[in-house]
Amino acid sequence: MEPWHTEMALDAVRRGARMRGMLRRQLLTLPTVVITLAIGCSRPADSPRAEYKHSDQVMGTFAEVKAVAPNAEVAKAAVAAAYARFDDVNRLMSDYVDDSDIGRLNQLAAGQLLTVAPETFRCLQRGVVISTESGGAFDMTCRPLVLCWRAAAKAQRLPTEQELSNVRQAVGYEKIVLDEGSRTVMLTVDNMQVDLGGIAKGYALDLAWQAMREKGATSAMIDVGGDVVAMGTRADGKPWRIGVRHPFQDGMYCTLRLRDCAVATSGVQQQFFEIDGRRYSHIIDPRTGQPAAQSPSVTVIASDGLTADAWATAFSVLSIAEAQPMAEQLDGIEVLWISGPAESPQVVQTSGFAAYVTE
Ligand code: AMP
Ligand code: MG
Repeated sequence: MEPWHTEMALDAVRRGARMRGMLRRQLLTLPTVVITLAIGCSRPADSPRAEYKHSDQVMGTFAEVKAVAPNAEVAKAAVAAAYARFDDVNRLMSDYVDDSDIGRLNQLAAGQLLTVAPETFRCLQRGVVISTESGGAFDMTCRPLVLCWRAAAKAQRLPTEQELSNVRQAVGYEKIVLDEGSRTVMLTVDNMQVDLGGIAKGYALDLAWQAMREKGATSAMIDVGGDVVAMGTRADGKPWRIGVRHPFQDGMYCTLRLRDCAVATSGVQQQFFEIDGRRYSHIIDPRTGQPAAQSPSVTVIASDGLTADAWATAFSVLSIAEAQPMAEQLDGIEVLWISGPAESPQVVQTSGFAAYVTE
């Protein structure tokens, strides 16, 4: 289970992991943890809809999954299917799991081929496309830089320019070779390593929704660590309501009304490196090796979870001046940036974002 977060969150996660086995058993046996079960809300008697909800720790963070289905059994099976998919993604794509596809890839010498699962291949493939479209701001090969900053935080000293430039030799999405026919991946430079922390959570949402639909769910709201897909409507027929956390104070900055789309937020609130009392973003600008310092909170709405997740990371690297025109050009993407100072936050959004905001 570990994976998509900094060392600082690991303890909390391990504590959560112990509880998780318990919760999972409860989910599979019977519902001391059923939070909502609403049958037939404002629907004609001949088309009842049940909503089932379950929260748990997954992928190093907190998840909440709600399913709407023709009956309670189907809704419950759909929620269980979503959690099974989260486990699959963790098992295949976590860079903290040595025998995951990514764990194994990171141990290979330059030029060696690895055949990976279709899901891992698809995630890498889509990641490379977003890397290209974002001009390299999004880069799944940033792991050596992430490790460098993690070590620096542990030693409580900033990495030197020389250290960063040495590490940057091994960074660059264009140095990944993917072959669709054989589903193989190759890293072409020594010491290259891949980290799907900026994309896999969103992809897990998409895979979870697909699995839920296959089980018969008609709608779902799936939240993994604040990245959300909101498909169809709630059991009462209304759109899902998703809060965007305020980066400078407790509570929400705004609430979004979403239907058939995904939203992801990247920022320094939950994950960061701290050196000498100063917080540095866990997102690294692959072009400089420095932590991103652009915007404390970037929220992206897109048609699917992977796209929202990856672009939220990319737009955290790019300045708003660079990113805004890019975002306006991208089909189906809306973005909200909330920057400091904390006393009077600066808010910028793309032209279609306001249409999703309820309050
Ligand atoms: P997110 O919270 O989705 O923005 O993802 C942040 C995580 O993505 C970090 O903890 C790293 O594991 C990884 N990451 C850091 N910088 C980048 C980058 N420039 N491109 C892609 N992934 C990154
Ligand atoms: Mg991301």
